[in-house]
Amino acid sequence: MTQSPNFHLETLAVHAGVEPDPQTGAVMTPIYQTSTYAQADVAQHKGYEYSRTDNPTRTALHGALAALEGGHYALAFASGMAAIDTILRLIKPGEHVLSGNDVYGGTFRLFDKVLSGYGIEFTFADTTAETAVAAAMQPNTKLVWLETPTNPMLRLTDIAAMSQIAHAAGAWLGVDNTFASPALQNPLALGADFVVHSTTKYIGGHSDVVGGAIVLNDTAVYNQLKFLQNAIGAVPGPLDCFLTLRGIKTLAIRMAQHCRNATLVAQFLADHPAVAEVIYPGLDSHPQYELAQRQMKGPGGMISFILHGGEAAARRVARDTQLFTLAESLGGVESLIELPAPMTHASVADSPLAVDPGLVRVSVGIENAQDLIDDLKRVLNQL
Ligand SMILES: *Cc1c(COP(=O)(O)O)cnc(C)c1O
Repeated sequence: MTQSPNFHLETLAVHAGVEPDPQTGAVMTPIYQTSTYAQADVAQHKGYEYSRTDNPTRTALHGALAALEGGHYALAFASGMAAIDTILRLIKPGEHVLSGNDVYGGTFRLFDKVLSGYGIEFTFADTTAETAVAAAMQPNTKLVWLETPTNPMLRLTDIAAMSQIAHAAGAWLGVDNTFASPALQNPLALGADFVVHSTTKYIGGHSDVVGGAIVLNDTAVYNQLKFLQNAIGAVPGPLDCFLTLRGIKTLAIRMAQHCRNATLVAQFLADHPAVAEVIYPGLDSHPQYELAQRQMKGPGGMISFILHGGEAAARRVARDTQLFTLAESLGGVESLIELPAPMTHASVADSPLAVDPGLVRVSVGIENAQDLIDDLKRVLNQL
């Protein structure tokens, strides 16, 4: 497809990056399951030499990911963490990274337990408060890193305001856009320098593949990251790229249904007497409802809630729902439920990211909303 910035997300999701195979006309990009490529003569090849460096199925995925985020360039990785780690290789010892204090537990672990041992300085600040971020900037700050909405507290950060603070200090802004997906929010358009995804989640969308992505506009930085992608080698295999491309086709309609269902489930929870608090950017009780309306095209599929019965009640709900499978991860077509404190956020138990042990997080899938509500109702009514 000839790339055009005028196409809407629904169209880009179906067409971007994918051309009929020149050899056979195959409509879907084949799984180029090969490690190497025949050369006509020494150093005479058709753009592909070795599959760590480049693979045609991955090239198609790069095109799709760039188009979805409205960026010039995209790079795919073997996981979201590999994508984040590769960006952090741009930061040198002695330089400072200002990170949100409510980032994904694995990101916090990478920053705090791994990279801080290599001389990179990290500060964790509340990115929902612009004054806190401005105050935490240092002369050696090279990167501001944030997620919005965050996991699992679903706090929002004003991306445009953060990009101004970062750029005024000569730093990059990196945004992990996993929770919103490119269907609901495009950080590059709001001034971010890097967008990162765990494509494991909404972009893949079917809980069948682990992957990550970086999308950006700057050519020189892209060339550095492309070099690092090959030099470090945390690349996805061709089958993983194919599965992600296949998932992307339905991203727009999946996200619409995730948002519709989650809105109905959040309203149900908010009205249920067993529920003490519901955190969902689509409810006007969310402290940043106004920012959600302004910055996001929809409130997303993630809901967190706290029960009056505390941790014991939370464990019962997570165990006894039938349509909400008790599992880590999020963003797939099927609804999932988990307790962040003992599960996804166990690695941050004694850190500033520690989560209320009674907090329940649900990833609302694309099933029938009433079936989901009935499942929750049955369990909540027994508490
Ligand atoms: C899952 C996740 C990651 C890590 O991605 P993996 O694909 O699991 O490596 C990073 N950020 C967020 C917000 C996530 O949800």
